[in-house]
Amino acid sequence: MLNRLGVLGWPVAHSLSPRIQNAALHVAGLPDWHYQLLPVPPELFVETVAGLPEAGFRGANVTIPHKQAALALATHASPRAAAIGAANTLIFMAGAEVRADNTDARALIASLPHPPVGASVLVLGAGGSARAAVWALRDAGAASVRIWNRTGERAQRVADELGAAAVTTAQVRSDPGADLLVNCTAVGLRGPASLDGLPIGEPELDGFGCVVDLVYRPEATALIAAARTRGIAVVDGLEILVGQAALSFELFTGRPASVAAMRVAAGSPATADGGYIQADERSA
Ligand code: NAP
Repeated sequence: MLNRLGVLGWPVAHSLSPRIQNAALHVAGLPDWHYQLLPVPPELFVETVAGLPEAGFRGANVTIPHKQAALALATHASPRAAAIGAANTLIFMAGAEVRADNTDARALIASLPHPPVGASVLVLGAGGSARAAVWALRDAGAASVRIWNRTGERAQRVADELGAAAVTTAQVRSDPGADLLVNCTAVGLRGPASLDGLPIGEPELDGFGCVVDLVYRPEATALIAAARTRGIAVVDGLEILVGQAALSFELFTGRPASVAAMRVAAGSPATADGGYIQADERSA
């Protein structure tokens, strides 16, 4: 029987996870494993996940907007996922056991040009990935983490739970700079045109030492493009995507992932049949 994996999200059509995970499965010599999109609206999330093990699914990644719901339905959560309050990886075990973990946190820290020890950070957003970012940065030694969100009460809740300081748009505009800016909002997901929806514009980017955008697109997001133009160090969402995918792959299969194969697949156009893009391991 096929060992099935997938990514649960809404929307999820943009996700590169099937391409990068199938590339790594191919390189690992696991032809009886396959990874697919699982588009599921919030109201169907719990009942859909409950049916996955019987349909042959061994695990699933979880993306926007289900990460908190994924943690809530798990029967066992890693200490990290429990502390973050959100899961991006579910493992289906025998006996209806569902294990939850969060690989976004480790991937974010690993992608940074320098460990964030002592750093000041401004996190934008208060959803599942923002929770992972705030927790990971605090855990890795950031000195101060401010969090802004379109819906201020959510920022306050995350700040209170994870040891950060919630800030309003006015507060960000009066003091926008920090060592790190981490965008965990969905702004930029549907189009690269502008920074509309964020509390800062292009000139304010000059106050940041490094700009991280969790959103990824085939071309750079508006935030990454603007930061690059201004000569600011950037971390693209694709790098974090590959990092979290490699960690999830190990949890799914018990084998190390070929990060080189994942990077090639993430940066390559889709094949005609939507399947994996064979990576050249010699370039690893
Ligand atoms: P989520 O839990 O649904 O949270 C979405 C966040 O975006 C909320 O803070 C929401 O604010 C904000 N938002 C949505 N539309 C907005 C708009 N028009 N203007 C301002 N803020 C807006 O989603 P998530 O899981 O945290 O994911 C957030 C983004 O990060 C997604 O684009 C996702 O694809 C990306 N991501 C990438 C990786 C990676 O590996 N590169 C990993 C995780 C996530 P409100 O609270 O006000 O609604």
